[in-house]
Amino acid sequence: MNSTVVDHEIIVIGTGFSGIGIAIALRKAGFDDFLMVDDADGVGGTWHWNTYPGIAVDIPSFSYQYSFEQRRTWSRVYAPGRELKAYAEHCVRKYGLRPRIRFGTTIVRADFDDGLHLWRLRTAGGEELTARFVIAATGVLTRPKMPDIPGAERYSGVTMHTSRWDHGLDLRGKRVGVIGTGASAVQVIPEIAPEVAELVVFQRTPIWCLPRPDAPLPAAVRGLMRLPGGQLLTRALSQAFVELTFPLSAHYYKVLPGVVKLGERSGLAHLKQQVHDPAVRDKLTPRYALGCKRPSFSNDYLKTFNRENVVLETDPITEITRTGVRTHQTHHEVDILIMATGFKVMESGNMPTFDLHGSDGLRLEEWWDTHRLQAYEGVSVPGFPNFFSIIGPYGYNGASYFTLIELQTRHILRLLQQARRDRATRVEVTHEANDRYFQEMLNRRGTQVFWQDSCTLANSYYFDKNGDVPLRPMSTVEAFWRAGHFNLTDYHFKKTPHPQQTTTKADRASTH
Ligand code: NAP
Repeated sequence: MNSTVVDHEIIVIGTGFSGIGIAIALRKAGFDDFLMVDDADGVGGTWHWNTYPGIAVDIPSFSYQYSFEQRRTWSRVYAPGRELKAYAEHCVRKYGLRPRIRFGTTIVRADFDDGLHLWRLRTAGGEELTARFVIAATGVLTRPKMPDIPGAERYSGVTMHTSRWDHGLDLRGKRVGVIGTGASAVQVIPEIAPEVAELVVFQRTPIWCLPRPDAPLPAAVRGLMRLPGGQLLTRALSQAFVELTFPLSAHYYKVLPGVVKLGERSGLAHLKQQVHDPAVRDKLTPRYALGCKRPSFSNDYLKTFNRENVVLETDPITEITRTGVRTHQTHHEVDILIMATGFKVMESGNMPTFDLHGSDGLRLEEWWDTHRLQAYEGVSVPGFPNFFSIIGPYGYNGASYFTLIELQTRHILRLLQQARRDRATRVEVTHEANDRYFQEMLNRRGTQVFWQDSCTLANSYYFDKNGDVPLRPMSTVEAFWRAGHFNLTDYHFKKTPHPQQTTTKADRASTH
């Protein structure tokens, strides 16, 4: 029988920081037969697509970078988006990844071939790509969500989602509406307010907005980073700040309630100091506990509502008309409507981002529908062999994505290395291990911030349709430890019964 050569041992879907991170690790570990695909025409993922005015990282740059590729040249404590995009390009160049990337390649479907132990990926162009292993580095916040407000198709002005900003559009002197007040809106609103004629902000749920300890990176800090141990020290301080402000305060809220209370006091003081009109301040005051949904950090957002040309509209929207947006009580005429309405997160169309069929044709979306969102250590799902996610359900704990990418990469590499040692062609998490992990995650809910009554007022995308919060309830240190120490017997490693029927280029190289 003729042997089928699998196109690649590994296909990585996505060239954002998850894809770049695992690709670098694969190269370092000697896995050379891999391809990276992306629907975009450039690397950087989030930082490729999101270019709206004011975009910047919202955790300190010392943490928002790979541990093995730290920069001293960030211009600010919170680096602007274009520096993140340049950092992605730098990493791709430095680690020689460009020849392995295929841009403009959208994966629309993936099927596991049980006989041959390989994945068949179908692209939007109708091409088939095969791989022994598939790594989903598809990110979490990538599928723009347009609001389902009646009448949108009638609108004769220009509509634009924040993540698809049209830089050719001149906002100067225009009447502009922004729907949404999440993290993207918080950054874009203060940037565009001074140049537009009128800005109407349609708020459904106020966001907790905390002061942002941002500044141009002081010369003293740059100097410190040049001293022996200086870079380590700044990174350690930054990591500790990030760990305390999200993973620990959210997942161990009952143990450390003071952190959330302190944050709420700081948020309310910030609001009081920034907004003059008590009525507007009241509208901007969140009625849910800090941490129920992703808070924002800005020194400019709240005070934008003091401007004469800015209106905060909290009356619910009833429809979009030909010329603007109607609420129960008012009609606002706008020339440009900006949808700062976020992304599909814990929902169909994003979990996963393509139609995925595992062993016996099992559909991942259906499996999750039936069994609730879950993945062993946030990486693997039983019935979906050789498929690993960088940040699947119960994989994200709120720390810097970079830290999480590195630790999930550690998990996946252990599997690939074991498979290579065993000459295994099928790697699948056991049902027992997955059930144990899921149950453990549910048992840990007791200490989390999300289960207070007030969270029902937050409209938070952390909650899925079952009312679960598929975030990882543990510290980053624990997650890192687990990535290096989970029991490999939690997976079945099997060899194809037809080894002569499929080979990868890597197999061929090792046997010649
Ligand atoms: P988001 O946080 O999901 O916010 C979407 C906003 O649109 C919310 O205020 C939502 O109101 C509103 N909205 C949605 N549909 C609506 C409707 N039909 N009518 C009225 N309002 C509607 O999205 P995002 O601001 O793009 O941020 C998403 C995530 O991306 C953030 O949480 C953060 O993790 C990340 N992000 C990070 C950065 C950064 O690091 N620099 C910047 C931007 C975004 P409700 O709250 O009532 O649902």
